[in-house]
Amino acid sequence: MPSSKGYAAFDSKSPLAPHTFNRREPGPSEIAIEILYCGVCHSDLHMTRNEWGNAVYPMVPGHEIVGRVTAAGKSVTKFRVGDLAAVGVIVDSCRHCEPCNRGEEHFCIEGSTLTYAAKDRVDGSITMGGYSSNYIVDERFAHTIPANLDPAAVAPLLCAGITTYSPLRHWNAGPGKKVGIVGLGGLGHMGLKFAHSFGAHTVQLTTSLKKKDDALKLGADEVIVSTDAAEMKKHAGTFDFILDTASAPHALDPYLSLLKQDGTITLVGLPEKPPSINMFALITKRASIAGSMIGGMPETQEMLDYCGRNGIVSEIEVIPIQQINEAYERMLKQDVKYRFVIDMSSLR
Ligand code: NAP
Ligand code: ZN
Ligand code: ZN
Repeated sequence: MPSSKGYAAFDSKSPLAPHTFNRREPGPSEIAIEILYCGVCHSDLHMTRNEWGNAVYPMVPGHEIVGRVTAAGKSVTKFRVGDLAAVGVIVDSCRHCEPCNRGEEHFCIEGSTLTYAAKDRVDGSITMGGYSSNYIVDERFAHTIPANLDPAAVAPLLCAGITTYSPLRHWNAGPGKKVGIVGLGGLGHMGLKFAHSFGAHTVQLTTSLKKKDDALKLGADEVIVSTDAAEMKKHAGTFDFILDTASAPHALDPYLSLLKQDGTITLVGLPEKPPSINMFALITKRASIAGSMIGGMPETQEMLDYCGRNGIVSEIEVIPIQQINEAYERMLKQDVKYRFVIDMSSLR
């Protein structure tokens, strides 16, 4: 049985600490990966602190994984030993329902298997995530990485990237559309890069005045400090689409007022408490509030290949695993430019 070293949360309050555990042997269609880099998603913080009420301890978080293949089962066709491979938020699903057959495994009717803190469909154990030395995964749930991209800066694409790429594609962000991105964090800065790259008139909404220059450098056509009511008012009724990535509880009404008639705000951020909504802000313009969750395996590969062709990666701060608790505190203070990525060689 491959042994694994990692960092785990042991309860909702204590800092993450070293943890050693075993993984199962890879099956015929599975690969074993030595993890090189793992991104730090705000969901890891929500999960380890049990803010969604579904924590299982010990919990090894991490679902933005880039690593090197160290073993491949005999029916594996996509990877060879030595290749780079990437793994995101889900690692299995029923593989036979309608959404699975369409390549929308994240909408699996029987429920997809999360990369960590979920029941492994193969042996019933609890999945342990990417803040660790290795991972075992079916090749269907692993992706190839364009050779021209920095593997450390690719890691955040596996969650922050696909979670913003997918809704921007679905709601047709592109030329002629005015698109707003709420929050310039891990997800938000990828949403900004994609919306700009797709040709939309892209407006970054931020609560942090200090991020204004960065937002412009990252591709925003305009930046609105969302706490400035006068600035918000100037843009009232002008947006086709808004992608809300904010991680903390917040009112939706100020953003609803920005939408045009028939506009949509799509929520991807998952604050501990849901927002309250002023119904009149919705009905008076037939506005829609929608949600979106990561993306399926084919779309995740499509996103990675798009990034390869267009030279898109995440802005990262690389940290050793020993700094993970400090990184969580900095993330809560909105003090990260714009995604922490753990260099897993620090475990060795
Ligand atoms: P992050 O890096 O911490 O960024 C969150 C950003 O939200 C902050 O940088 C901040 O941007 C903004 N923000 C914070 N408080 C706010 C408030 N009160 N009002 C408006 N904006 C506020 O977090 P992340 O990793 O991008 O994750 C964002 C959220 O998405 C989390 O809740 C996470 O769990 C969720 N998520 C969902 C999915 C999915 O599939 N739907 C996937 C991954 C993550 P400014 O400083 O610019 O205001
Ligand atoms: Zn995530
Ligand atoms: Zn399914």
